Amino acid sequence: MIKVAIIGYGNLGRGVERSLKQQKDMELVGVYTRRAPETVQTEGAQAFTMDQLKDKKGEIDVCILCGGSATDLPTQTPEWTHLFNTIDSFDTHAKIPEHFAKVDRVAKENQTTSIISTGWDPGLFSLNRLYAQSILPVGETNTFWGKGVSQGHSDALRRIEGVADAVQYTIPNSEVIEKLKAGEHLTLTTRDKHFRECFVVLEDEFDPEKIREEIVSMPNYFVEYDTEVHFISQADLDQNHKAMPHGGTVLHTGTTHENTKQVIEYNLQLESNPEFTASVLVAYARACVRLAKEKQFGAYTVLDIAPKYLSDRTDEELRKELL
Ligand code: NDP
Repeated sequence: MIKVAIIGYGNLGRGVERSLKQQKDMELVGVYTRRAPETVQTEGAQAFTMDQLKDKKGEIDVCILCGGSATDLPTQTPEWTHLFNTIDSFDTHAKIPEHFAKVDRVAKENQTTSIISTGWDPGLFSLNRLYAQSILPVGETNTFWGKGVSQGHSDALRRIEGVADAVQYTIPNSEVIEKLKAGEHLTLTTRDKHFRECFVVLEDEFDPEKIREEIVSMPNYFVEYDTEVHFISQADLDQNHKAMPHGGTVLHTGTTHENTKQVIEYNLQLESNPEFTASVLVAYARACVRLAKEKQFGAYTVLDIAPKYLSDRTDEELRKELL
């Protein structure tokens, strides 16, 4: 059995606990948290302090880091890779090379293995971009996200004075997707590819029109998009908008000989973004343990991992059943 620890217990941590219950070859040995363990409501797993994790070297095959990308993972992944094999879902795209270099150095110095930036984007979408662009070098790749909840944009709405609560959906432009699939060559702006839809609960005495204006003109978040804003009650928001669906499409349209059109489409429709992301992390945790057993120390990303390493089946079984 592969012994797994969860570091950090939020949405993703809970998703990893759920996913591990579906694996035959893996067991959860504990949840490690910065909070007082007795205050963390797990779904059965025992919770411990981070200090208790330091004594577990040799007893845990892999730690799945479930902290946030903004401030947790940049320090937590290098820190725990000193002692353990690790997996993370670091998704600040521009900072991945820097994060990789830091974790790679620690892993090589301490003879551990780490797979960083797993999940679906970065992660499975990155892999599909690589396959598509390698197979059809004459072509164009577009990634569309949604329909789904963007935590970053929802947080940005909640920071506005007068907003009590809010949820933001990213919606892909389906007309543009169909045109691309039909082989049209389009020059696309940010505004063409996605819409943004906001459901906002106002605090009393705030003017909806002023708040709407503040939202649609917010730099970096909304100003480059067509944004629709709906004002609703807290009860409506709680009842209808607290799930965390997401998904998206990697679409590559290319040509082979002359104008022979080829379309590659990879699509995810997720009722729960964190539960799906967690399931990807768990599969890559298996690969991480296998690489470590082969003494392949250092940092890796999904682009480096042979697909068969994700599976609990033998090479022979995979050749027989999947080819
Ligand atoms: P959360 O905010 O739910 O959890 C992050 C951390 O915050 C936890 O590890 C936990 O650490 C702490 N925490 C959680 N709940 C509480 C609470 N009630 N009070 C105080 N602290 C709390 O983040 P998510 O799990 O939703 O997401 C984690 C990361 O996953 C995101 O930042 C994102 O980068 C990444 N992600 C990546 C994707 C990909 O495709 N690559 C897709 C989706 C997400 P502790 O237990 O130590 O307190």
